[in-house]
Parts: sequence; structure tokens; C-alpha cells
Amino acid sequence: MNEKALREYIVGLNIDDLVTLDLRGYGISRIIQAAARQKHGGQPLCLNVARMFMENTKPGDTVYIFTGFVFSPYGKGELDGLTGSALLARALVLALGVKPVIICEDILTAGMKNVLMAAGLNAYDTLAECVGPVSAAVYGVSAREEIAAKQRQAILEMPLPAAMITVERGGRNEKGEYHLGGGANVSHLAGKIDDLFAALREKGVPNAAIGDLGNELGMGGIAEAVKAYVPFGAQCQCDCGGGICADVAADNILTATTSDWGCYGLCAALAFLTGKIDVLHDAYLEQRVLEAANRNDFLDGSGWNIPAIDGTPLDYNLTLVRMLRYVVEQPMQSAGKYSAHFERVVKLGFFSEQIGGQE
Ligand SMILES: [Zn+2]
Repeated sequence: MNEKALREYIVGLNIDDLVTLDLRGYGISRIIQAAARQKHGGQPLCLNVARMFMENTKPGDTVYIFTGFVFSPYGKGELDGLTGSALLARALVLALGVKPVIICEDILTAGMKNVLMAAGLNAYDTLAECVGPVSAAVYGVSAREEIAAKQRQAILEMPLPAAMITVERGGRNEKGEYHLGGGANVSHLAGKIDDLFAALREKGVPNAAIGDLGNELGMGGIAEAVKAYVPFGAQCQCDCGGGICADVAADNILTATTSDWGCYGLCAALAFLTGKIDVLHDAYLEQRVLEAANRNDFLDGSGWNIPAIDGTPLDYNLTLVRMLRYVVEQPMQSAGKYSAHFERVVKLGFFSEQIGGQE
């Protein structure tokens, strides 16, 4: 371990802490974070996924972002996940020069393009149209399997992406059914996307999942903890008998109190590792994107048609983004200033067990 490794580790913990603050007080974000940390040998989760993108992509590569959760009884998209995906797409363009492709329900693609544009990107229907460097494409997949199968096949026939991530993307359980966090069955509304992610993972595409409960695509990677400790994880409210836990696993798991915050944490980690603070958006852009999503009929998780994330009001989200920027920028600016302290902390060994193998 050295000064750089110690600083990265501590900044990673700071970012994870901020996006895991549990404003409801029921502790679920800490349960799933503990499971994900254990899976990744104690590594900070946002930092781990940022490294995955940095190590596996080069400028011009394609990156897939799977998102979208259409919820009942409104039949509209949940704002959480869609907004974070747009801001993550922006961060990946700025940090790595890649071409993001968003894959979501077909009924969400028009709104999703508007949210991407609010985040500053040019949004198109196909990857072929993404000729400029500041571009993203949006592909839709139907909730009806007979249509979805053809849409999945068309995407599978495109060149493989360099990496992929899911963000608050509804995931089927082991019985093939999709559920909301409260256990209600929403299989009739969910895009049938899971097999596409699983097939690409099978082909060796580096991958990660961002989730805040365990019913999201990819969160099968921590299924044991979700089934044991998350409400409705093992027992849903419909008669499928499967629970809400997602069946399909991702190799890297990033948990947060809301999936959007997980995206912001990932953007913050990318900003820190690349040394470019503006890879993480600012409060102005946060407000612009949340309001654009709301204008496009994406709902707060509470069901209210307001620019909030899982019941957390706009102002808190602006504050969170401001705090994340400080958490990234201050240690960047003070690098080299406290070397005598870093040297001694490293030598005295408190953190050596946690990051002993990492240089
Ligand atoms: Zn069920």
C-alpha cells in the first residue's frame, strides 16, 4: 500500500457512505451493501465498478446501460434509474470517450431520449446514427415476449459492447416473474430484457449491476442475502412462489439507497480516478435532468408525478451531488500536501488488512 492506494480506498469509502445513507431508517441499503462488499473482498463498490469500465474500454467503444422499471398501477416509468442512467452515460462519454447505448422498455424510449438530451447528450434511435462523440442511442424492448425475442436478437447481432451495466432495471425471479419492491407482480409491464444481458455475459462482456433492493436485473449476484434479509426477497405477494429476488446475476454489484445515487457514486468514482471533476455532474444539471424526466411522465417511486427519487425530494438530491463533488475534489487538490501523515498511516498498518493486496 502507498499514499495513492490509501487515498483511493478512503475516497471510495466516502463515496459509498454518502450514497448509502438510509433516509427511511429501515436499514435495507446497509444489508445489501454488506453482501456486495463481501462479494468484492471489502473493496468500495463505486470504485470497483469505475475500475471495471476504465480497464475494459477505450475511446469509441460501445457500452450498454440496461435500465427501466415500469410500475403499477400507473403503467409509467420510475424516474429512479432512468435519470441516473442518463447522467452515467454523460460521465462515461466525458471520462472514457465511449458510446453509450441505453436499453429499456419500448414505451420509455421517447422520454429517455429527452432525458439524455437534458444531460447534454445527442440522442438517437440507432448506434449507426451516433457519429458525433457526444452521442447516445436508445433501444426499446417490448413487455411481450414474442416481440421482445426479435428485438433481443437484433441487438445480439450487433458488435459486442466493451462493457455493460444495469441500473434499476426490473429483473425476473427464478420463476420468470417480475415484481415491485412491495412484492406485487408486474410481469405484464416489464420489458423482456434479462436473456439479452445473460447472453452477453455468457459471451464474456465485463458487467455490473446497480440496485437498491434486489429485484433488479443482475442482483442475483447477491441472491443469498436478498432472499435471507430483504422483505419479500424470498416470498412475494403473488402466487408464483418465487419472491422478488432477481434470478440473473451480474459479476460486479453496486448497491445504494436508490439506484440513481449508485450512478452518482459511480460518476464520482470515475471523476476521481480520471482526475476530471466535471465527469460528475453539478447541482444545476441534476435539477435539469430530474425535471426533464418528470416532464416526460417519469414518476417518483412514491407514485407522485414530481421530480423526486424514491420519495427523496429534489433539494436533497442537489445537496448530495454538491457533497459528492467536495468528496472527490478536496482530496484531488490536497494530493501531496499531507504526505508525512499518509506515510505514517500506511506504516502504522490500520488499513493494510483491508487493502493489503492492492498497490
Ligand atoms: Zn410472485
